[in-house]
Amino acid sequence: MTVPGNPDRPTYAMLNGEVVPFSEARISIMAPGLTFAVTVFEGFRAYWNERDAQLYVFRMAEHLRRQAFSMALIELDAPPSEKEIAAQIIQILLANQIREDSYIRSQAYVDDWGDMTATGPVGSSVICRKRPRTGAFESGKHFATSSWRRNAEDASPPRIKATANYLNSRLAGLEAQHAGFGGAVILNRDGTVAEGPGGCIFLRRGETLITPGPTDGILESVTRDTLLRLARDNDIEVEVRSVGRTELYLADEAFYCGTGQELTPMLSVDRKPVGSGEPGPVTRLLQSLYDDVVRGRNERYADWLTPVWPDGA
Ligand code: PMP
Repeated sequence: MTVPGNPDRPTYAMLNGEVVPFSEARISIMAPGLTFAVTVFEGFRAYWNERDAQLYVFRMAEHLRRQAFSMALIELDAPPSEKEIAAQIIQILLANQIREDSYIRSQAYVDDWGDMTATGPVGSSVICRKRPRTGAFESGKHFATSSWRRNAEDASPPRIKATANYLNSRLAGLEAQHAGFGGAVILNRDGTVAEGPGGCIFLRRGETLITPGPTDGILESVTRDTLLRLARDNDIEVEVRSVGRTELYLADEAFYCGTGQELTPMLSVDRKPVGSGEPGPVTRLLQSLYDDVVRGRNERYADWLTPVWPDGA
């Protein structure tokens, strides 16, 4: 299932709508997608359900809608439709015989050779790879506030999933790593909490779960939306509003979330323990609710799951 020596690499990738060996999925070295980062992408997770012998892609429609918005904002000529990408995702999971928790990345870019305003020719690709849950789901991580500010809405809008935005994430991630932290909190220009390099932030103060809003410099995260819905459905009071840096120090608990890392408890921020310094009870409750939903153990949210195998695997 994988290329020897590269355990994460799938055998097949989807390139411009065709299944090809991963090693043959190539783009031009002068592609504006590379030279000027004219690329947008999406990251999805698929979860294996043992009982149903089925692989479920989580909230595929919402991720595809976000990719469509990202592609429209950077003005790609005739990019693949949501329906086409959806079919390609299923096809590549089947081609690689995926029957375990995995991650899918879909991307669209300007290929060949062109200047920074080139809108075509558009290339697209989809890959999938095995991706078990990270250990930090259980253990949590220590975070530090980054000295890098989140890229601004009026400069390089965080609302779209453009690869260009990940320079900012990389700088913050590297800084945190060099200082010995597991994660970064990135503030926006106003000095309030935006998000982390690859995920959104929630905190609890007393009875209330709080998360920054869509104008605070965040990607409109599917996981964040899922957790807001699960919290409300379970009578947890929720506030969406700007969050001051020092509120993280005052919080009773906090966590970081996104498709890839799911929910990561934030044990401390800037070496100050968050709450007890251990993963908090609401974090643990939401982790358990989330796990049931993504794995198809909660019928109420069955609409969020797209089965991959035609009649179970
Ligand atoms: N913010 C950033 C910068 C991200 O890269 C991600 C991961 N996609 C998220 C937030 C979380 O978004 P989602 O829950 O849709 O994966």
